[in-house]
Amino acid sequence: MQVHIPLKQVVDNSYSITIDSLKPVHFDTKVAIVTNPKVAGLHLAYLLSKITAKELYIITVPDGEEYKNQDSINIILESLFNHKFNRNSLLIAFGGGVIGDMTGYASSIYQRGIDFVQIPTTLLSQTDASVGGKTGMNNSYGKNLIGAFHQPKSVYIDSHFLSTLPEREFGAGVAEIVKMAVTFNKTFFNFLQTADLKDPIILQEAIKQAVQTKADVVAQDEKEKGLRAALNYGHTFGHVIENETKYKKYLHGEAVAIGMVMANNTSVKMGLMSEDEAKSIKDLLQKYSLPVSYEIEDINSFYETFFLDKKSSDSTITFILPLSIGGVKITDECDKELVLSVLKDFGI
Ligand code: NAD
Ligand code: MG
Repeated sequence: MQVHIPLKQVVDNSYSITIDSLKPVHFDTKVAIVTNPKVAGLHLAYLLSKITAKELYIITVPDGEEYKNQDSINIILESLFNHKFNRNSLLIAFGGGVIGDMTGYASSIYQRGIDFVQIPTTLLSQTDASVGGKTGMNNSYGKNLIGAFHQPKSVYIDSHFLSTLPEREFGAGVAEIVKMAVTFNKTFFNFLQTADLKDPIILQEAIKQAVQTKADVVAQDEKEKGLRAALNYGHTFGHVIENETKYKKYLHGEAVAIGMVMANNTSVKMGLMSEDEAKSIKDLLQKYSLPVSYEIEDINSFYETFFLDKKSSDSTITFILPLSIGGVKITDECDKELVLSVLKDFGI
């Protein structure tokens, strides 16, 4: 199965995403696989049974979002300089979205940009983070505030890696898949309602559809000038939830699940979505044990936190509201009282 992303707005950045079990591949250049100890322990031997190169190095960085920072980028860059990587060399990101974002970013700045390949190993990175060329890292001012658009040369998605993924991480990936279906693809949503994603064949089909859906959006709006922002559905509310719970209580996808329910309720109040549709989305999220409720202690403080989101300007908040299922409305003119009433329904 192959998904092609035609990106020709400025230069030809097109690349292919292969969704299949990994086939043996040889790279006739210097290659560094960037990974972390957890992923390496579980899956590096398998990867090395498939990949060969003229010279092959392994670079490991510590595991976790808290290490998606300049220190880890320096570890990667130092190693590339040490091994005399040049502009024809290649990086392979082997891990979840954290590894993918950092490897992509390091490859975008090393000698002004070298090629990289993504081999994502979480459901979230196979369906979302590895598609679309956003790379980056966090700093003390916030998440993903430093980075570059740098498209990979290719992406290899092998769902076999997901067999070791913890349940909650799996659910977090499902949330982002549901996000893509609700905003852009009703047929895919209907498929998900009856699908059992624990079945490897069905899972592979769902991954393919999610990747295709995101690829279609990215092909139309590579640099997020408009349509791509729709993929932030659930995130305006979700980011506040992550912020309030100090990024500890919920995985990102879990906060997005609650955020989608809040966005749906906003849509219902605005007459953009029926209550039945909102309920069918909630049911789907619950099927994968995702949280759909959250106790807001102070709705005014919740509302104020919207303005900390980097996607909002100082005076406006951008809401991504589903328009029925399969459509989306992006607006920064949502009535404050209406939003507060949505939050009130969630409050204690
Ligand atoms: P992650 O990379 O932290 O992975 C989650 C955990 O699972 C980690 O501990 C990881 O080591 C472990 N893991 C990875 N593969 C595994 C496997 N096969 N079996 C068992 N454990 C495994 O998190 P994530 O959810 O993959 O990605 C989240 C990151 O992706 C965030 O930093 C987010 O900003 C970024 N992201 C980027 C984009 C983009 O467009 N660039 C989109 C969405 C998310
Ligand atoms: Mg997200």
